[in-house]
Amino acid sequence: MSITIHDKVHDVDREYIPGMGRNPGEERQVSHLYVEITLPDPDDVRLTIDTYLPMCQRGWNRSNGASFSIFRGHVAARGVCKICQRRAEAGLPGVESKPGSHKTKWL
Ligand SMILES: [Zn+2]
Repeated sequence: MSITIHDKVHDVDREYIPGMGRNPGEERQVSHLYVEITLPDPDDVRLTIDTYLPMCQRGWNRSNGASFSIFRGHVAARGVCKICQRRAEAGLPGVESKPGSHKTKWL
């Protein structure tokens, strides 16, 4: 299941995947939004790979901000993260991982 959010700045609708964290207890928190992006394949520059970026730094929920593990398409008990939602409405891109930016929260 994807979520459509209207980008108020560029006046377009975009699709986002809600991601419920796989860490224990995250089903009781918020789901962050993830946007699909296409990157050059690091193993073969002629190819591309499709991947996802979260719309806020908290979406990097593993290894203290270096990676994420989510149930795609699932919205957790507290709904969708307000920061992710605001960034999507403002037409901002997904955020790159920043290892060490915050501790993984084991609930
Ligand atoms: Zn978020």
